[in-house]
Amino acid sequence: MVPARPPVKFLDLAHQHKRLQDEIDLGLKRIFEESSFVLGPAVEEFEQAFADYCGAKHCVTVSSGTAALHLSLLAMGVRQGDEVITAPNSFIATAEAISFCGATPRFVDVTLDTATINIKQISDAINQKTKVILPVHLYGQPVLMSEIIELARERGLKILEDACQAHGAMINRKSVGTMGDAGCFSFYPGKNLGAAGDGGAVITNDDHLAEKLRLLRNHGSKKKYHHQIVGHNFRLDSIQAAILKIKLRYLNEWNKKRQEIASYYNSQLKGLKGIESLRVLDGTEPVYHLYVIQVENRKLVEQILRECSISYGIHYPVPIHLQPAYLSLGLMEGSFPNAEMLSRKVLSLPIYPDLTREDQVTVIKALYRASEPLTK
Ligand SMILES: *Cc1c(COP(=O)(O)O)cnc(C)c1O
Repeated sequence: MVPARPPVKFLDLAHQHKRLQDEIDLGLKRIFEESSFVLGPAVEEFEQAFADYCGAKHCVTVSSGTAALHLSLLAMGVRQGDEVITAPNSFIATAEAISFCGATPRFVDVTLDTATINIKQISDAINQKTKVILPVHLYGQPVLMSEIIELARERGLKILEDACQAHGAMINRKSVGTMGDAGCFSFYPGKNLGAAGDGGAVITNDDHLAEKLRLLRNHGSKKKYHHQIVGHNFRLDSIQAAILKIKLRYLNEWNKKRQEIASYYNSQLKGLKGIESLRVLDGTEPVYHLYVIQVENRKLVEQILRECSISYGIHYPVPIHLQPAYLSLGLMEGSFPNAEMLSRKVLSLPIYPDLTREDQVTVIKALYRASEPLTK
């Protein structure tokens, strides 16, 4: 008889918030006292804190990670007829942001061992229409930026980093998001730094870009009822900013816990037939928004995880170029073999700062059970 135990959750934010409840209550009380609910002092304070955290000159908060990507591309001058190079195995928002500008995503396949854009193939995708290279630090793993920076410089292109899953991830001690012309973050509740609702930010060292972003997020206006350009209503709430500022103080501690869980998973899964962890590139510090394995027989592994009451995710089951939303691109199956292969093999294990060692052991035991039939 297997002793009854509670299910292993994929993500549990309730514990984290319970510990922070007093701080959050105090922060929210102040927002109601000030009653400046949109772009108030709390927003400016959080922007300063997040810019400092990343080591960037500017942080411009917005209403979501999607808005951050969209406005960054607009601010970089992307428009109808342009192309933006990115990977086909991201969350759909990466491609949507390109489409919102009237531009077209130009996909480049990924490498199998990292699931991130194959840098060697980027130059072949560049043409007259290319304006921006948009690498995605998928799952919290940094894409190596130096070659992309060199290429962009040579070809006169901008770089926008999608760091929506990678708050605090580093390459040679430099924060992701600070190496391109701008970097975008999402504060969707489940992200490594999450609000109590939607939120996002762009960081940049470029004064001109920051200025443009501030206009774009707020109806093209610097002074109330004076509008320099046609903009959007993509502002962050003060309530979200207050919560984010409190949670930012814990981000390093939480990322460290994720890294500890990942290194436990890495060590336990090493050598297990039919199950492979992603490769960690030299000089990079991933922050494991997700802990993703590649499995030969995903159906079987899924079945065993379900039997063991272990929640898991698939990020992502359909690559963007094969989504109905992007059929108009006319890209057939086989266009990006590695991204397509990954969509069939990836599986995300539970990972979050409060995941207990007991739960981690339960996950590993289930995977050992799953891998046995594969080896025989
Ligand atoms: C979450 C996410 C986004 C979008 O962020 P939202 O805040 O949900 O709009 C964009 N890109 C990637 C890679 C993401 O994971």
